[in-house]
Amino acid sequence: MSERVFNFYAGPATLPLPVLEQAQRELLNFRGTGMSVLEISHRSKDFEEVIFGAEKLVKELFGIGDDFKVLFLQGGASTQFSMVPMNFLLEGSTADYILTGSWSEKALKEAQKVGPTHIAASTKEGNYKRIPEQKEIMLSENPAYVHITSNNTIYGTGWQEFPDTGNIPIVADMSSDMMSRPFDVSKFGVIYAGAQKNLGPAGVTLVIVRKDFLEKAQPPAPTMLRYSTHAEKDSLYNTPPAFSIYILNLVLKWLKDQGGLTGMEKINREKAAYIYNMIDQSDGFYKGHADKDSRSLMNITFTMGNADLEKAFAQEATAQGFIGLKGHRSVGGLRASVYNAMPVEGCAALADFMKEFMRKNG
Ligand SMILES: *Cc1c(COP(=O)(O)O)cnc(C)c1O
Repeated sequence: MSERVFNFYAGPATLPLPVLEQAQRELLNFRGTGMSVLEISHRSKDFEEVIFGAEKLVKELFGIGDDFKVLFLQGGASTQFSMVPMNFLLEGSTADYILTGSWSEKALKEAQKVGPTHIAASTKEGNYKRIPEQKEIMLSENPAYVHITSNNTIYGTGWQEFPDTGNIPIVADMSSDMMSRPFDVSKFGVIYAGAQKNLGPAGVTLVIVRKDFLEKAQPPAPTMLRYSTHAEKDSLYNTPPAFSIYILNLVLKWLKDQGGLTGMEKINREKAAYIYNMIDQSDGFYKGHADKDSRSLMNITFTMGNADLEKAFAQEATAQGFIGLKGHRSVGGLRASVYNAMPVEGCAALADFMKEFMRKNG
């Protein structure tokens, strides 16, 4: 490949080209410091501008104020699976989980190691092809929080509207659709996302915690696994993943240039429509895994009911510069991950490729 391809990998995933170009320009001499951002102290003024700038941009993009704390942590979304119950599964309460895919199952499994849990709803039956309806959700008597996975990376489903949990805070794993659209953040106690899908490179996890919820946290957890440790030190308790935060900062600025979350949603809907329309108009040649009313805007999963044909699709696509379309083994078939940074042209070109592949093989 001599040119950049259209990268449909599920994560780590494509990044905005202007961000990569700026990082390249600045790599050897970061903003006149004579050093690379890879080399400067995380206690320096130059780096503080990067990390506090990123915090400010997160708040601005979400339209949240000082009732929330923005944290940049390590250990990926997977560490949050443990940190959430270790901090918030309080004595005498239960942690409620809504299961919509493999990542929610993993989150539940970690909570079970910490204390009592309850499955408030699950769509495992039918291989997670849909999001539960409000009336299917049965909370426990005294939930400390209700955990959801906003977008199911593997199955290609996503919550269209977040559930009504009354006054119980929602804790959400938004790893694969963070900042893809605006929503009412006030219902959430904690939002977390590994950056490597929709926000930046691997190595940093963006966490947003509501301060009144944080105050309830009980701190038997080890120092590094307490939210309060990181909140009190503005994510500088120990050395943060400085380069990842720097790239995240650039991605956030890029997001702002796209018209913020409202602008981004509009673009994301346009992108996903190219591929979903192709599936819907293929007369069953392509079969979407997700129910129509549960479709993800970020991960589009489909099969062809024929493993050889699916293999040929992936191979031909790769040869034409569409990379990473092989589906996850739990669903099989194909998956196009079209995160924020995937340009509209990538989705339009993939839809054209699908049309041509169907013409030749249908
Ligand atoms: C990828 C993914 C994870 C795992 O993230 P890590 O940062 O690798 O731990 C968790 N949840 C969801 C929804 C994901 O897509």
